[in-house]
Amino acid sequence: MKEFAGSIGLVLNEPLLFDKGKRGRVGISMPRRDVDYFPVDEELTGTGPDFPDLAEIEVVRHYTRLSTWNFGVDTGMYPLGSCTMKYNPKTNEKQAALPGFAGAHPLLPEELSQGVLKMMFELERLLVEITGMEAVSLQPAAGAQGELAGMLVFHAFHKSRGRRRSKIIVPDTAHGTNPASAALCGFTPVKVGSNDRGVLSVEGVAAAMDDDTAGIMVTNPNTLGFFEENIRGIAEIVHARGGLVYADGANMNAVLGIVSMGDIGIDVLHLNLHKTFSTPHGGGGPGAGPLCVRKHLEPFLPIPRIVEDKGSFRLASDFPLSIGKLHAFYGNVGIMIRAYSYILSLGPELKRVSQLAVLNANYLKEKLKDILHLAYDRPCMHECVFSDKLQAPLKISTLDLVKRLIDYGFHPPTIYFPLVVTGALMIEPTETECKEELDLFVEALREIVKEAAESPELLHNAPWRTKVRRLDETNAARNPRLTCAGVVERSEE
Ligand SMILES: *Cc1c(COP(=O)(O)O)cnc(C)c1O
Repeated sequence: MKEFAGSIGLVLNEPLLFDKGKRGRVGISMPRRDVDYFPVDEELTGTGPDFPDLAEIEVVRHYTRLSTWNFGVDTGMYPLGSCTMKYNPKTNEKQAALPGFAGAHPLLPEELSQGVLKMMFELERLLVEITGMEAVSLQPAAGAQGELAGMLVFHAFHKSRGRRRSKIIVPDTAHGTNPASAALCGFTPVKVGSNDRGVLSVEGVAAAMDDDTAGIMVTNPNTLGFFEENIRGIAEIVHARGGLVYADGANMNAVLGIVSMGDIGIDVLHLNLHKTFSTPHGGGGPGAGPLCVRKHLEPFLPIPRIVEDKGSFRLASDFPLSIGKLHAFYGNVGIMIRAYSYILSLGPELKRVSQLAVLNANYLKEKLKDILHLAYDRPCMHECVFSDKLQAPLKISTLDLVKRLIDYGFHPPTIYFPLVVTGALMIEPTETECKEELDLFVEALREIVKEAAESPELLHNAPWRTKVRRLDETNAARNPRLTCAGVVERSEE
């Protein structure tokens, strides 16, 4: 069968825009010219890239077809551990698109931005209440920027006490951004191992903590999906030596309205609104990583800060101890509106988000632990971590297992992370999946594990049912082709 550009059945193919179109085709209609034609001086403007000439319908079809190749939470279950790929209710999109919000411009004067400022002020209050912290800055534009801002607060705090400290304790289960943020801020990350229960021990931290250590960065629940149960004792040790405790709260899905981070000894916490608080995450789009602190660290928060003055709101920058500005303007406000809408629409039900997220993860853990090796067999929080240990003798790896999952219509979970589990398979179902969907996922994995024993080649060469097969990911990462250079080569052929 000859394959035509355009379609295979109704699964649409799509060439590059550079391979489409015809000279002179246009996608817009301009009004008739009422001045004399004046040629552009090419000496002055130079010759730019040779963009394709396309009609409107070609452009519309191009992008619409590409969009059908996308997999997202609106298409199916996306159990990507440490990422909280949950369904994002559309009402939150609708609120963010309200003309007053969507049309707001950061250069508008404060008198004309009262609605947006009020929304941000109230969101800060709501996050204070949810986390049990005391002051919030919505500024950081990503989780990692929140971490960096947090490390700058650590530095500013010690400086204000006339101290210089060079090290930060980071557990071996930490997300890679933690040691990176500490290092970017000039600290040396010092690794501490987790114990045989997959959590930090008070003794382990006590042995690493000294007077040259600025503090510790913990993730709670940690990336193995366990609550750091010794956190109070750990915070005591760190505080006793003058250090601070940072918590990476990128994934709060297990503890919303249940754990008060302030009460368990956390001084600084960042959140990922684009994971826990209803913004599509994982597409590399805009994010928001609010920084939450205890009262004694409030003076160090980034500027500008939103302050209320007799019922009106303004952006204030007169905070002499502040770590300063993180970027232009105020951050990704659209993400804040979604979070605000999400929190208000759930209200006290927010707690059920976490209860169901934990229930779903434990359900999957119990349904799969006879066929996949469970790294730590104990109740988990919002995610559970398996490994390929049982399949390794069959020469089947984690990568083979999850590539085959694609053929069954499921997005692969996070793999080979956290690093402390060899061949890790980290599954986070989230609260938004129903039991039937979870059961289908279990069934798919049970089929795949059976195939691993009976016809391993099905797994080694998976996926079979996708547009492209197994890609050379190393080569794609090391030698990415990000320009249309490839296209030029092609037309020269
Ligand atoms: C996603 C994540 C981060 C980083 O967040 P970004 O917004 O991608 O910078 C940090 N820590 C943990 C535990 C995460 O899951």
